[in-house]
Amino acid sequence: MNFTVAIVGAGPAGLAAAYELTKKGVQDIVVIDRGKAASKRNCPMPKNYNVCAHCDPCNIMCGVGGAGTFSSGLLNLNPYIGGDLTEFTKDEDEAWELVNLVDQMFLENGAPNNLFKPDTDKVEDLERKASSADIRFLPLVQRLIGTDNACTVIERIYSQLESRGVKFLLETMVKEIEEGKLLLENGEEIKFDYCVVCPGRSGMKWLEGQMDKMGIETQYLPVDIGVRVEVPASIMEPVCEVQPDPKFHIRTSTFDDFVRTFCVNHRGFVVMEVYEDHVGVNGYSFINKKSDNTNFALLVRVGLTEPLEDTTAYGRSIASQITILGGGKPLLQRLGDLRRGRRSYWSRIERGAMKPSLLSATPGDISIGIPYRILKDILEGLEKLDKVIPGVAGDSTLFYAPEIKYSAKKVLTNKNLETKIPNMFVAGDGGGVSRGIVTAAATGIIAARGIIQKMGLDKSD
Ligand SMILES: Cc1cc2nc3c(=O)[nH]c(=O)nc-3n(C[C@H](O)[C@H](O)[C@H](O)COP(=O)(O)OP(=O)(O)OC[C@H]3O[C@@H](n4cnc5c(N)ncnc54)[C@H](O)[C@@H]3O)c2cc1C
Repeated sequence: MNFTVAIVGAGPAGLAAAYELTKKGVQDIVVIDRGKAASKRNCPMPKNYNVCAHCDPCNIMCGVGGAGTFSSGLLNLNPYIGGDLTEFTKDEDEAWELVNLVDQMFLENGAPNNLFKPDTDKVEDLERKASSADIRFLPLVQRLIGTDNACTVIERIYSQLESRGVKFLLETMVKEIEEGKLLLENGEEIKFDYCVVCPGRSGMKWLEGQMDKMGIETQYLPVDIGVRVEVPASIMEPVCEVQPDPKFHIRTSTFDDFVRTFCVNHRGFVVMEVYEDHVGVNGYSFINKKSDNTNFALLVRVGLTEPLEDTTAYGRSIASQITILGGGKPLLQRLGDLRRGRRSYWSRIERGAMKPSLLSATPGDISIGIPYRILKDILEGLEKLDKVIPGVAGDSTLFYAPEIKYSAKKVLTNKNLETKIPNMFVAGDGGGVSRGIVTAAATGIIAARGIIQKMGLDKSD
């Protein structure tokens, strides 16, 4: 089969690349994904809202919409969140333009219209409180699609692309990338003039191998290791009113390490993720189903130099250790128990102020699974945060582990995301150039524009 452009991965990066290319009239585009169409990905909308314990993990990460389909669908409309788009744009204005284009794509396909724009007075107040606790608050404009709406929005983007002539090869794994062609697992071969490789985090190891094979340089990025914190929703209400996913950046006192809040799910649910050799935790928030709790990740950034640079291997070793300690499930501990040096039991957790939203975790002791420095950072970070969000570091606060955000190895490219192999571009989380829906989609657009430019279709150039 011959195509002008082959896109590997139908996540936000791949879909946005195809969207941009079709807008410029590029024909003969194929998008290949190892997963299914969004409507056939039978995963979430769970009976108990703690989905991932019960289903095929590939349904969560793979298929049309990629990892974004069953995410909270929170769009962080900022070029510096989830990466730094200005690395690949001529200036900041272009980076903002890309963010707006991505937002537009979701809006055109049914994303809710209401935007969360922080109220200036409330932001100033929160910034003041945060600064006095030595914390940085990042005010952001956000749009929440919601886990329950994301699938429909993705379906519409998919139909829209099909109606523009894009061909989708689903449930089709790309095995090898070579100059000018892709070898599929089913034995078929796809020839292309241009290729955008965007396999997301589920394909990052595979991509790394392919890049090594072709002599394209990659470099390790830091890993974020921490816990998912769960508190009664009333504690987070005042800050979530200002911003649905409030982002706080903290420097810890003892080690001067960087700790941040991430992926706040106000009135949401903690979920278990199942990987090949370990489990993890994450959070979901739905538009139509609410819990009495709020959860968020509290993450410590860890970069490694020598002798071990491989931050993924380090993160995985911690995740595996915690998985062993939890008997194949995530560990759950009350902060009060952790402070007193004792493990948690269901009986102690049940006495607390709140019912955990993830009941398939194992009460235990996370301090024997998380390295000292990281745990110290988490505790110090949360104590500081308590000055801004009173009650967040109370004894009943729950910690779930492991919560680890891996970064793919960053593929070295030019500003258009073209690798040293001519006409081969990378985009999205798998190539280490983004860490979120908006930035992944924006890098897809950057790669598409690189192709458009090379094809001579860019009239502005
Ligand atoms: C539970 C969860 C919640 C999240 N919540 C949010 C959120 O609220 N906001 C936010 O901004 N981000 C969120 N994220 C992160 C966000 O989903 C990702 O940053 C984003 O989806 C990355 O887009 P991508 O296109 O780079 O990769 P992906 O979305 O991972 O898509 C990559 C696609 O490539 C396919 N693929 C991989 N290898 C191959 C191969 N060899 N052959 C064929 N196909 C292949 C995969 O099947 C997949 O469909 C969440 C992630 C998860 C897991």
